[in-house]
Amino acid sequence: MKMVLATSNPGKLDEFRALIGHGRHELTTQGELGVEDAEETGITFTENALIKARHASRHTGLPAIADDSGLEVDFLGGRPGIFSSRYAGDHATDQENIDQLLQELQGVPMHRRTARFRCVVVLVTQHDQRDPVVCHGVWEGKIAVAQSGENGFGYDPVFIAGGLGCTSATLAPEIKNTVSHRAHALARLKAYLDHGTPLTESPE
Ligand code: IMP
Repeated sequence: MKMVLATSNPGKLDEFRALIGHGRHELTTQGELGVEDAEETGITFTENALIKARHASRHTGLPAIADDSGLEVDFLGGRPGIFSSRYAGDHATDQENIDQLLQELQGVPMHRRTARFRCVVVLVTQHDQRDPVVCHGVWEGKIAVAQSGENGFGYDPVFIAGGLGCTSATLAPEIKNTVSHRAHALARLKAYLDHGTPLTESPE
């Protein structure tokens, strides 16, 4: 099946290709097909992923896959959430977002620093499909008091992955790609594509 990935980021294409498998599914990006990014006007990860997938499918006529992800911190009532990439401002860098987060959590004890990465991956076979495939992935952890590690991106230097005791920025990419929120969501999408497995999903 030929499909379009709602991104213009070639790195994301490689990650999706690696995780859902080559061969049966031919995947290309909307950027390669000349489609501009959609405006993310939703208020949940699911809504934004759906907006992106429908937009890519509408403009290409192909089945489309899109994802949306971010960090939820319990002490902050779920923020930064869908605003994760622009927490410290519209064009904020990863470091500025981390600084903002650490400052807001200053003095908060470890047991109250619980957080999770969430990822939602959506597949629509046509732009107006009524029952899209929606796959959720969650990665539980805590926010560190100080950053550590050089790998990854975004909030990885301050996200202590549950059960691992180190930040996700200290994990080798091959390890992160088997345990992360994105890995979980993509595993569900792969199961659906390979076997049409019914999905049991957790709501946002
Ligand atoms: P996107 O939806 O994949 O573009 O992710 C939105 C934002 O969430 C990113 O810019 C990061 O700030 C944050 N984020 C999502 N996934 C990760 C991750 O695996 N590690 C660190 N930060 C992440």
